[in-house]
Amino acid sequence: MEMMEDVVIVGAGIAGLATAVALKRVGVRALVLERSEGLRATGTALTLTPNAWLALDALGVSHKLTPLYTPSIKGYVTNVSTGEVQEVLYPRQGIRTLHRKVLLEALAEELATDSIRFSSRLAAIQSLEQGGDASMAAVHLEDGTTIKSKVLIGCDGVHSLVARWLGLAELVHSGRSAVRGLAVFPQGHGFKQEFPIFMDENNRAGFVPLNDRQLYWFFVSQGENMEGEPEQMQRDVLEKCTEKFPSEYLDVVRHADLSSLSWAPLMFRSPWGIIFGKLSKGNVTVAGDAMHPMTPDLGNGGGASLEDAVVLGRHIGNSVMNNGGLIIPGDMAKAIDDYVKERRWRAAMVVTASYLSGRMHHGDRWWIKFLRDRALYKYFFGWLSRLVFVYDCGRLPAISFGEMDLSRKKD
Ligand SMILES: Cc1cc2nc3c(=O)[nH]c(=O)nc-3n(C[C@H](O)[C@H](O)[C@H](O)COP(=O)(O)OP(=O)(O)OC[C@H]3O[C@@H](n4cnc5c(N)ncnc54)[C@H](O)[C@@H]3O)c2cc1C
Repeated sequence: MEMMEDVVIVGAGIAGLATAVALKRVGVRALVLERSEGLRATGTALTLTPNAWLALDALGVSHKLTPLYTPSIKGYVTNVSTGEVQEVLYPRQGIRTLHRKVLLEALAEELATDSIRFSSRLAAIQSLEQGGDASMAAVHLEDGTTIKSKVLIGCDGVHSLVARWLGLAELVHSGRSAVRGLAVFPQGHGFKQEFPIFMDENNRAGFVPLNDRQLYWFFVSQGENMEGEPEQMQRDVLEKCTEKFPSEYLDVVRHADLSSLSWAPLMFRSPWGIIFGKLSKGNVTVAGDAMHPMTPDLGNGGGASLEDAVVLGRHIGNSVMNNGGLIIPGDMAKAIDDYVKERRWRAAMVVTASYLSGRMHHGDRWWIKFLRDRALYKYFFGWLSRLVFVYDCGRLPAISFGEMDLSRKKD
């Protein structure tokens, strides 16, 4: 089967759905291809910082989520080896932790039902030159379908096929991995809306309330593969924590909903791989983890994906407005190039800040201990979090359909 689309997005994760919403807001229909049979919410929950909420505002989605989740204004970090406790203050807007499924559904319900095609795995990409700067992309799906598209956006995650096709630098393994899950307390958990974190030389663990009965918890360990059946992962976390970690954390892990548990190696793309890499080729580009996989130490992979969506939507929207509502392949290459220029340095900076924050947490060398126990939260965290969390990716252009001279709101 052969089809023709204006814009194809590969992947219905946070980046893919948010990009489709951004494009819809500027009057562009996109077809989202997802290899799974439905929306995948692996990882159960995530924390979104103020930069992410500004992006969700721009997408017109935040109002559906903010009433459901209370912000955390502060957290504290306990070194379980020394007993020292450091307070962590978040930006005044706070950070909100939410169910991934709720976020994905809030984005997906903004789209027409036929704009997400499930069970559609991208297998190969082909570039079709159209003369001049213009090109089209042909995507070949595993089920034999070929879709020609004026724009192709790879939002296909850490192991992105589109990123590989662009020739982006391979992933780097941070040497750490994480187990995460949901804890359910049917009678209520009784914890305050705070974000306690516990750490020793090799491990870092924490939890945060999602609502009165559910908490999101995680366990990050250095150098160990904890992949396994959910019961085994839960046992492994409890065994590693029993000696030093406080009973309140152990209790949270014991209340895990086993169906929610997942394990992930923590991977990132080197910042210079992003700064010098080919983030687009003609009308093909990447967004989200496909562009900038990062370690989750500042909880910003999802936030940066939402920023990508708004910026891409803005540049494509401006191009479409300037062309009387039409997608002109030659002009799309320019819009995508402008998107890449705007995102490249920001993405590299967030990847670097996340990596540095994680690096300062793990290890038993004297300078790591010094940074972790004396400097990270006192000096660096505030600075890193201001760089990463206090950022506004801007608005989408306001489009008035039905008029040829489409009005444009200043960014
Ligand atoms: C342990 C951990 C904790 C994290 N915590 C946070 C946090 O607190 N806050 C935060 O903001 N971020 C966090 N992140 C990062 C965040 O999860 C990611 O940055 C975010 O999910 C990226 O979204 P995405 O849409 O780019 O990729 P994904 O969520 O991976 O979505 C990619 C989609 O593409 C589909 N796909 C892949 N290949 C194909 C193909 N060939 N054909 C069709 N479809 C395909 C997949 O099925 C998937 O649905 C964390 C990450 C980890 C590992």
